[in-house]
Amino acid sequence: MNLRREKIIETAGRSSRFRLLLLLALCLVFLPIVAEARTRNDRDQSRRASAEPILRVKLGGLHKKLTVRFPEGGQVLKGSRRIKTLRRNEKFDWAVSANGKKKRRVAHNGETLLLQGAKAIVELNGKLYRGVLQISFSANGALIVNHVGIEDYLRGVVGSEIGSRSPAESIKAQTVIARTYAYASRGKHKAEGADVCDSTHCQVYSGVSAERDTIDPAVAGTRGIVMISDGEPIATLYHATCGGMTSDNDKVYGGAPRGYLRRVQCPFCGAGINYRWSRSIGIEKLKSALRQEKISFNRLWGVSIESPGHLDRVTNLVLNTDRGVVKVKGTTIRRLFDLPSTTFVLADRKLPAKTVVAARPAAPVIPVTRPARLVSELQTRNEHLPQQMLVMTAAGLKRAQKPEGGWRVMTLAASPEAPFPDEGNSAVQLPAMQRRGPLGGIELFGRGYGHQVGLCQSGAIELGKREWSYRQILAHYYSNVALRSLDY
Ligand SMILES: [Zn+2]
Ligand SMILES: [Zn+2]
Repeated sequence: MNLRREKIIETAGRSSRFRLLLLLALCLVFLPIVAEARTRNDRDQSRRASAEPILRVKLGGLHKKLTVRFPEGGQVLKGSRRIKTLRRNEKFDWAVSANGKKKRRVAHNGETLLLQGAKAIVELNGKLYRGVLQISFSANGALIVNHVGIEDYLRGVVGSEIGSRSPAESIKAQTVIARTYAYASRGKHKAEGADVCDSTHCQVYSGVSAERDTIDPAVAGTRGIVMISDGEPIATLYHATCGGMTSDNDKVYGGAPRGYLRRVQCPFCGAGINYRWSRSIGIEKLKSALRQEKISFNRLWGVSIESPGHLDRVTNLVLNTDRGVVKVKGTTIRRLFDLPSTTFVLADRKLPAKTVVAARPAAPVIPVTRPARLVSELQTRNEHLPQQMLVMTAAGLKRAQKPEGGWRVMTLAASPEAPFPDEGNSAVQLPAMQRRGPLGGIELFGRGYGHQVGLCQSGAIELGKREWSYRQILAHYYSNVALRSLDY
């Protein structure tokens, strides 16, 4: 027995000596590799100074009913304590019942739970999200906040902001815009314990379902890059189609002018939706819409617009009615009649659109060989604004030169006995359009789609096709901004 034990001990001793030698040999071979890996890791650590910011995204409003599923399994935490483990595909249901109490005994009102899926994937009401869901239950419903890394958030955002089939550099430009917006909007929904919401109020975020093969490389290729002006992330305004030139932020929204939101020429969006548009508004439709604004009249004798320049944003539509002169804001007209933009002129409905509007018919095609050449060309280029236009007068078509101070007001006066309110300011009048009776409606011709401040998406897509880089595209639409790479 003793002998046997000794033998065993001896064998064990021999075996541990052998293991020690083997370990030594392995160390000699692998130590340099491990050391090298560690240095590389340290270098990565110092380059990536901080962790990727986590964004808290409020999903919808107060949910009366919810189903959470974990495709890969997961757990439910209360504080840091795990209260439930869910198997693969297991569901977590919750609903507010009619009397305001929960139906299932899963959570109590006033509780906040964290739902953490394996592989950081969790499904809420049939939609997959990355990151973690925080659910705060109350008698009114459940408030859901998705805690997600900012880069994963962008993968679920950019596709809703720009078509995923757009050129790669145009998508990258849109990604930098979305990241800058998200970064600058942290805490915007502070009262609800979130940074941003998932609707158009902030940026439309649809989680995994919005991810695309063409969007992911744009997010990865611009990782951490935001636009900065005076050390702050900029207000990244953009719109669908500017229609030839963008607008200064203060001209559209009032307030202080921002140095980076200046008007720029955009001869690139001619193929964009609503580059030019027209709209007829019959007198009855006009009257009933304006009644909503507490404006009423029986007869419209004349109409004019107040605008900083020809085919520029309309400040006011001025109506000369049987009940006096009424001014309606351009933004109100846009809202009431669902106009693509507030940038339009008036024209007689009998006048062909191009007679009035086509002073500069379409975006000129600038031949480009290299993007760099185009940048310098643009900087030295003269204004693209129309310098003259065709005007219908009693003596036929006349060419009118651009008046000093720009094109201001176009009139569509009704009858001679109805004095036109802004006659003194009228730069261009159309005497041939005068009528004897009241107007039967108004005809609008406009340019652009959206508020026209900041980046023009149709233009950015065209520039991507012309092989501009995303940096060049952003630099064209946002004046004097710098790109900064956040370290993570
Ligand atoms: Zn929001
Ligand atoms: Zn444009």
